[in-house]
Amino acid sequence: MLRAGRDEGRHLDEALDYLAQVFGRPASADRVGPHFTCIEANRIAWVLVASRHPDAAIVWLDRHAASDTTEDLHGGAEFDAARYLRKNFRATMTA
Ligand SMILES: [Zn+2]
Repeated sequence: MLRAGRDEGRHLDEALDYLAQVFGRPASADRVGPHFTCIEANRIAWVLVASRHPDAAIVWLDRHAASDTTEDLHGGAEFDAARYLRKNFRATMTA
């Protein structure tokens, strides 16, 4: 198994950097974010946070949440992606 952060994981790290560029790009997140369910969006955010791309995760979830209703996981005008990530991915974000 490849592990990010090790020599053999260099390609994985590079791939995760590219993934973060895609999902952390506001225009891309605006375009595709609404098409993912909240659970799917969380899983993508988790990958971004776990791969040391918390800023990309924030952009991703903010843009996904823009189309959520108040009944959705990330719905409501008061939704704050940074706070949500700190609360739900605390162990990963502080590792
Ligand atoms: Zn959502």
